[in-house]
Amino acid sequence: MHIFAIANQKGGVGKTTTTVNLAAALAAAGQRTLLVDLDPQGNATMGSGIDKRALTNTVYQVLLGLATLAQARAVSPSGGFDLLPANRDLAGAEVEMVDLERREMRLKEALANHVADYDFVLIDCPPSLSLLTLNGLCAAHGVVIPMQCEYYALEGLSDLVNTIKKVHANLNRELKIIGLLRVMFDPRATLGHQVSAELEQHFGDKVFKTVVPRNVRLAEAPSYGVPGVLFDKASKGAQAYYAFANEMIERLKTI
Ligand code: ADP
Ligand code: MG
Repeated sequence: MHIFAIANQKGGVGKTTTTVNLAAALAAAGQRTLLVDLDPQGNATMGSGIDKRALTNTVYQVLLGLATLAQARAVSPSGGFDLLPANRDLAGAEVEMVDLERREMRLKEALANHVADYDFVLIDCPPSLSLLTLNGLCAAHGVVIPMQCEYYALEGLSDLVNTIKKVHANLNRELKIIGLLRVMFDPRATLGHQVSAELEQHFGDKVFKTVVPRNVRLAEAPSYGVPGVLFDKASKGAQAYYAFANEMIERLKTI
């Protein structure tokens, strides 16, 4: 079982879009996949076709020890993968977990019972370096970092890389950066190409070859509760995420 956190403490950089589409593309390739929504906004839950308002058990109950993963998981009707959903309840978890023992290991421990159930677990992290994200990083073997090729993109990146280094040193020796994924790429923007080149210089092989373009079909899909890769399979955005899923599978053979 490979466990990956999709993380970047900035909001709106394509974490959820990447998680949902990678989950659906891996499922389409026959991989048994679980998506863990770790964001109280519940966007990955809604984008997987599950109504976040209608849930009794979510990742919140699992983190707090009030439900098991088996009780809280659901099947994404549109995506073909399993989902550990989230909703607003999760916003309280941060505070309520403070007094718990091993509070940063709660997700890792919940997943430990299900090693045989899945080939891939993808964790959609919230836009912060909070206790929730820390749970994601402690549970994961690797981090995938989606980023837009903008002027400020590199600035935020060093905070994230430092956090990953600290988690690796103190909490999770298995954690490594799997790669950086360029998303919402606009080929007409000169700056995008410059930042993209800088990323390749800095991070070399860690930059995925696949580049996900800005594509309106990917942005439309969540309102239908369908992953973009299934909503319009032929779109440029869907094609990019299928290519990315293949690149991930290939990359795992080398690490
Ligand atoms: P995050 O989870 O990091 O906050 P999202 O995945 O929710 O980011 O993306 C932010 C917004 O950008 C959403 O409205 C999403 O639909 C849109 N979006 C993401 N990726 C693309 C893309 N490649 N092309 C067009 N819109 C995108
Ligand atoms: Mg998100």
